[in-house]
Amino acid sequence: MRRALRIRAVKKTRVVTPGGRTVFHFKLTKPAHVVCGMCGAKLNRAKLTPSQLKRLPKVQRRAERPLPHLCSRCMREEMKKMLR
Ligand SMILES: [Zn+2]
Repeated sequence: MRRALRIRAVKKTRVVTPGGRTVFHFKLTKPAHVVCGMCGAKLNRAKLTPSQLKRLPKVQRRAERPLPHLCSRCMREEMKKMLR
């Protein structure tokens, strides 16, 4: 097996060819949704692989507000707790 295919991002499936040979087919998995760290809601952000994220400027990687890893609703509640 090629070294580049030995990663978790590549899904391996076993396929039997018409000649009866068993071969492996490789498929790159798509990046998952970015979710809120508290409630698990989907964040309004593009689904990108880490290497694609690296090519973007920092301001486009996450929200430009406090607690960018949370959704806006959870962020508001956390900010209220901080102010108390
Ligand atoms: Zn949330």
